[in-house]
Amino acid sequence: MARYTEAKCRLCRREGQKLFLKGDRCYTDKCAYERRPYVPGQHGRARKKTSDYAVQLREKQKVRRIYGIQEKQFLSYFHRADMMKGVTGTNLLAQLETRLDNVIYRLGLANSRTQARQLVRHGIFLLNGHKVNVPSLQVKIGDEITVREKSKKIPVIQEAQDVIARRGCPDWLEIDGAALKGNVKAMPVREDIQFPINEQLIVELYSK
Ligand code: SF4
Repeated sequence: MARYTEAKCRLCRREGQKLFLKGDRCYTDKCAYERRPYVPGQHGRARKKTSDYAVQLREKQKVRRIYGIQEKQFLSYFHRADMMKGVTGTNLLAQLETRLDNVIYRLGLANSRTQARQLVRHGIFLLNGHKVNVPSLQVKIGDEITVREKSKKIPVIQEAQDVIARRGCPDWLEIDGAALKGNVKAMPVREDIQFPINEQLIVELYSK
């Protein structure tokens, strides 16, 4: 499966804001965006004209990068969101939020979405008691995510208990840090997604 392998901090600099792609490092003064808050490359600091199309495109790229989704898959999320009842942009974000890798990150069982995805692929988590290795699985209300008994001792999972205590989790999820067990209490609503995203721009982009 194709994935982005270049420096992640470049993506934050390209999008002009912190996307929090590298876990704890993003909260330290080592953050590349804090040190160089301009677009990478020779002409990064030059002022550029911004068209409506460019603004819409950047918003779409930003969301794609936050969730680590490739273009083709992102487009299929959009088509699905468009066919669902309700507001397309909100449906799109809800689908991204309820991906298994994102839920594991939101629960604090991983430091970043990239790490969550890697851990899922390694089969470290159980979904409703069954081993899973597909990061894009959509969770639903009542689902229970646990760490496999024999994986509880690996260092990243041990560190997760600190992350859980520090970060907490959104209202639509529930985490038991001692048991390393998370539950989906509800589907996320728009207010649960605090990151500044203007999903309407993405809808406009794809509706051209
Ligand atoms: Fe972005 Fe800073 Fe995190 Fe790098 S360290 S991914 S620049 S927020």
